[in-house]
Amino acid sequence: MSNSAINNKIQKLREILEEYNHQYYVLDDPSVPDIEYDRVLKDLIALENQYPEFRSSDSPSQKVGGKALSKFEQINHEVPMLSLDNGFSEADLQAFEKRVNERLNTSIHIEFACEPKLDGLAASILYENGLLVQAATRGDGQVGENITENVKTIANVPLKLRGENLPQRLEVRGEVFMPKQGFDKLNQQQKEIGAKVFANPRNAAAGSLRQLDSKITAARPLRFFAYSVGVLEGGNISQKASHSQRLASLGELGLPLCKENQVVTGFDECLSYFEKIGRMRDDLSYDIDGVVFKVNDLQLQQRLGFVSKAPRWAMAQKFPAQEEMTVLNDVEFQV
Ligand code: NAD
Repeated sequence: MSNSAINNKIQKLREILEEYNHQYYVLDDPSVPDIEYDRVLKDLIALENQYPEFRSSDSPSQKVGGKALSKFEQINHEVPMLSLDNGFSEADLQAFEKRVNERLNTSIHIEFACEPKLDGLAASILYENGLLVQAATRGDGQVGENITENVKTIANVPLKLRGENLPQRLEVRGEVFMPKQGFDKLNQQQKEIGAKVFANPRNAAAGSLRQLDSKITAARPLRFFAYSVGVLEGGNISQKASHSQRLASLGELGLPLCKENQVVTGFDECLSYFEKIGRMRDDLSYDIDGVVFKVNDLQLQQRLGFVSKAPRWAMAQKFPAQEEMTVLNDVEFQV
């Protein structure tokens, strides 16, 4: 292929992904199944790796999420909210451990915090001296939407933290999602009143959270699980040396955590955890689309650092696509 043909192909893939991103992140109305999105993104990344002269910081391969909607007040994230690198095979997971070990210059198996990859949308919730003062969507990672009033309506999000020696400022990050049962009930109700039926729980959670009228959000069965910390000033939690200890502290402060989280050592145990969660998937009360592996030691995380879009110390291992028909926007896609 000539240089200009390659450039044209790369531009075309970027345009397609930008359109998919707009539908998914901004309009909460995906036009294709995730597997199709992931396939196009993989093709783009492969071309950008093969022809680095066409790389660009504007490429969807380098960007997080979508733009914050202007109908919401905008909030600047003090600590950027990034995405995660994805893996799709056992070899990808093994390569992740190898990269981590090489960067850390070690051959010992290190600890990983393993967490189901919850299929909802990321939210940041800020507590000042124990009180919930602000909540935001991830947006493009730098600027999110102010959804404070909506988040306050989520049943398991505490408005006030429990315990002694509370941090002066604590930004809790986690996933807002809609449990499967609540999703089925909501769609049933939507059908009955002739309103729009949501394509999947993720889509329903996003549409329910990004409402200007928090009464609508309050009527939707949303839940939240905390999975990390952004801004942190003071309190016992600042003393913790590992990600899993920090999460345990969030639990003590009254924040909801996913019960399936587990700490393991090395690739073999990561793989066993992935397989175990895969077997449990259908029986969980919420949708997941994979497992997130995070280097557990916070000092090691710091040494590993970040690339433009994601931390080097974490990876999301996706489940293989399910053979099923997904109905989106009245169009059927074979996935
Ligand atoms: P991602 O879904 O690959 O991973 C990052 C997100 O994972 C975080 O922002 C967080 O919300 C979530 N997450 C869930 N559990 C977590 C945990 N325990 N710890 C940390 N994070 C956790 O990245 P993304 O940028 O949100 O979305 C990319 C994916 O979204 C694509 O791979 C694709 O499947 C889908 N997508 C689909 C379309 C479409 O048109 N169908 C468009 C855009 C994106």
